Amino acid sequence: MTEATSAVAEKGPKQADFIRFDDISKRFGKNVVLDDLSFSVGAGERVTLIGPSGSGKTTILRMLMTLLKPDSGTIKVGEDYLFHEERNGSLAPASEAHIRKVRGRITMVFQQYNLFPNMRVLRNVTEAPVHVLGKSKDEAEERARELLDMVGLGDKVSAYPSQLSGGQQQRVAIARALAMDPDILLLDEVTSALDPELAAEVLDVLRDVARSSDITMLCVTHAMKFARDVSNRVLMFDAGRIIEAAPPAEIFDEPKQERTQKFLQSVL
Ligand code: ADP
Repeated sequence: MTEATSAVAEKGPKQADFIRFDDISKRFGKNVVLDDLSFSVGAGERVTLIGPSGSGKTTILRMLMTLLKPDSGTIKVGEDYLFHEERNGSLAPASEAHIRKVRGRITMVFQQYNLFPNMRVLRNVTEAPVHVLGKSKDEAEERARELLDMVGLGDKVSAYPSQLSGGQQQRVAIARALAMDPDILLLDEVTSALDPELAAEVLDVLRDVARSSDITMLCVTHAMKFARDVSNRVLMFDAGRIIEAAPPAEIFDEPKQERTQKFLQSVL
């Protein structure tokens, strides 16, 4: 039994499919981006989505953030539907209140860190906990300082984003995401805009996050070493389908599909 499945087992059988995509399809015009896709992710599991550009990986994350709606199929987080099929076959989004509740448990870090440029680092991290979660300023600041220490930026609380390197800004973005106490952290190519050295700093921080919390992580990345170190499972996408899913050692060392072998040769 892997570490992930034992963690899931401790939390009870329901959590084994904490995030569930069932028969999800999405097209933009004639472009079929997701093709009747089904998969699930256990609570506390770290899953990396790999595959060629345009294969639908980011679309998955954006649907979980309710930034995009599937054309058909259902998405569930825990016991809550984000989108579900009605009996007549049409797709209904869950109610606004319901979506807010689910969305409150999920945060995403983007390739472009999107910090508030006019706010100091500390305020970047406390803004949403105060205004969205309703935390007191003191409580939010205490937690923000802890998180900024964790990402190695305890001495930068008073800096403005423009005074930080790209890697430092991305680490603030990670602290900001964690300040929402999410159950699920979505990471979308968080190091692709960075030089290798700065990317390594960010990946180190994420390794620490993975080690020290039981947060469920879905990560789209081309950083294969990170995928190998951190993930419990790697999903290989091609043309809107998952063509191979396995623990990292298996997928990187003994990929079964020729398409996976070719893709890995092109990125490693
Ligand atoms: P990946 O993350 O694997 O690179 P994406 O999920 O970003 O792939 O994109 C999958 C496909 O969907 C691509 O062909 C992309 O051009 C297309 N796509 C994504 N978003 C939109 C959009 N808003 N409008 C039209 N096409 C889109």
